[in-house]
Amino acid sequence: MNVGVTGGAGRMGSTVLATALERDDSIAFAVDVDPAERPVHGVEIEPADQLTDLLAEHRPDVLIDFTGPSSSVEYAQIAADASVPFLVGTTGFDSDQEAILRECGESIPVLRGANFARGVQALIDAVQAALESIPEYDVELTETHHNGKLDAPSGTAKVILDRIDDARDTEGERVHGRVGDQPRERGEVGVHARRAGDITGEHEVLLAGNRETLSLTHRAGSRSVFAEGALDAAVWLVEQPAGFYRFADIADQLA
Ligand code: NAD
Repeated sequence: MNVGVTGGAGRMGSTVLATALERDDSIAFAVDVDPAERPVHGVEIEPADQLTDLLAEHRPDVLIDFTGPSSSVEYAQIAADASVPFLVGTTGFDSDQEAILRECGESIPVLRGANFARGVQALIDAVQAALESIPEYDVELTETHHNGKLDAPSGTAKVILDRIDDARDTEGERVHGRVGDQPRERGEVGVHARRAGDITGEHEVLLAGNRETLSLTHRAGSRSVFAEGALDAAVWLVEQPAGFYRFADIADQLA
């Protein structure tokens, strides 16, 4: 696979470059709004405003984006204009931005994943199964990430919360942290976002009731877990017709 990368100097973009090279994929180009002074894993980082020209010149099989919500949406539109499949791992989109990504899926294959770790998909399925067995138990979700993460709660936490709503057939109120006199209401879901050090990413769903607790936890040991999943999904994506796809819906086809 021949891969173009946006955000190539960032934590995830640079990991995608390293992982792609380890897998013998080729790098068509990498861009960043803040180009690195030195090559990243041997790849020159080009200025992001050259993306349109680079796509036309190199025609990658797929453009992989880990930047930020507004730039990801802009790059999805540029990829659509260039007829290049677009895989996006950025989190924190609002509903208007999400709608633009879906619109781009009318002309090119677009795949969005809030978390490309396959273990996280297994965690989400396990949470759903647990809630179907013990729907009345209290639920608290805690996510922990490095101190540079911008959005909170994490995109993965939002996906898990949506699945909790679906599994319980109710939309319990989401309470983000608690402070002062704030007793727990029945059905509410506590959401806690911790930011510290260089932690790659952890998600824990705690279910408690009837004098017992069940804790389901996923820990990412390295960003290469996400990069591997993204590249596996890209291999799948380049074979698909135009459409808007979510990693959660196709992850089981990558096994
Ligand atoms: P980061 O800040 O380390 O990297 C982002 C990079 O994008 C930076 O180098 C920045 O300069 C660049 N950038 C910003 N605006 C740009 C623009 N307009 N054009 C080109 N480049 C631009 O952040 P990160 O930790 O790599 O995370 C990036 C995104 O990926 C976040 O939204 C994060 O939540 C998400 N993420 C997703 C997964 C997943 O599995 N889907 C995993 C980890 C992180």
